[in-house]
Amino acid sequence: MSAATPAGGQAPGPSAAAPSAAAQSSGQPGAAAEAPGASIHLQEIVQEYPAPGGSVTRVVDRIDLQFSQPGINMLLGPSGCGKSTLLRMMGGVRPIGVATPTSGTVHIDGQPCSGAHDDAVMVFQRYANRPDLTVWENVAFPFTLKLWKERVPRATWRSQVDAMLSAVGLAEKRDLLPAQLSGGQNQRVALARALVLRPRILLLDEPFGALDAQTRLEAQKLLVDLYQRQPCLIVFVTHDVTEALALGDRVIVLSTQPARIADDFKIEEPRPRTAAWHRSTTGTRLEQRILDQLHSKSVGPGSISVSVGAPA
Ligand code: ADP
Ligand code: MG
Repeated sequence: MSAATPAGGQAPGPSAAAPSAAAQSSGQPGAAAEAPGASIHLQEIVQEYPAPGGSVTRVVDRIDLQFSQPGINMLLGPSGCGKSTLLRMMGGVRPIGVATPTSGTVHIDGQPCSGAHDDAVMVFQRYANRPDLTVWENVAFPFTLKLWKERVPRATWRSQVDAMLSAVGLAEKRDLLPAQLSGGQNQRVALARALVLRPRILLLDEPFGALDAQTRLEAQKLLVDLYQRQPCLIVFVTHDVTEALALGDRVIVLSTQPARIADDFKIEEPRPRTAAWHRSTTGTRLEQRILDQLHSKSVGPGSISVSVGAPA
């Protein structure tokens, strides 16, 4: 399951991020976004966490990364290597009692950013749809917050919510409660809640990790469809090699703790990428390239996976 929350906001419950000017004026999730390009720059990021015995564990070691809109950027690495730590840093979600980052800087749109950013929205694997709200109310939730009430006229956001529910195939489920939905449908509610805000930056932390293989493929396809209608800067964390190859314009491979950049490459193949492409020389070479990095000496016991089913 997944949950959408504003970058920097704390789940549970959906919340808000600033829509682009284009989004505010069009109000429909059908047309391509015309927002100015967003950018994220991580500079010399180091993250250390307290360890037993008063020592510290270095989880992220001098990471330098730049992202710019639009594009789907996959952050791939074994579990425990520091992917969520990095993503949360970009979204301004700070752990309690730990300075984040330990050193280095995060810039969004060229400005230093140490907290939540209005233009960034996060979607987590963990479930955070409000159980007491209907599907429609869950997607509309951000617009009940003061900030959003002031930013978007009521009639506009109501039609945005309706259109987004149709886009994720949940229009007929609008009056149901989350408990009456499947995991995949709940996950679509969370995605809809994030995308209805037309974020310029969408940060996804293993959003499909809890879904079964078939539902996961459907969710990936939906994300690609939504991205094509509404391009933005996506950073997508995964530990699944096939998912990274299916979705990414760019794949950044992290080594295990402390996370360093082991590889960073672009994929030119247009989406959707077929099973034939995954089996092609290009597809299998890229897969092998990633596996070689992940199995190199720098990689420890963290788990990675290769999905059994590639996209059809
Ligand atoms: P990943 O998302 O790649 O699985 P995380 O970024 O969640 O990895 O965590 C990386 C490492 O940092 C793990 O060993 C985890 O236990 C540790 N860690 C994460 N957050 C904290 C924290 N707030 N305090 C102490 N250790 C943490
Ligand atoms: Mg994680």
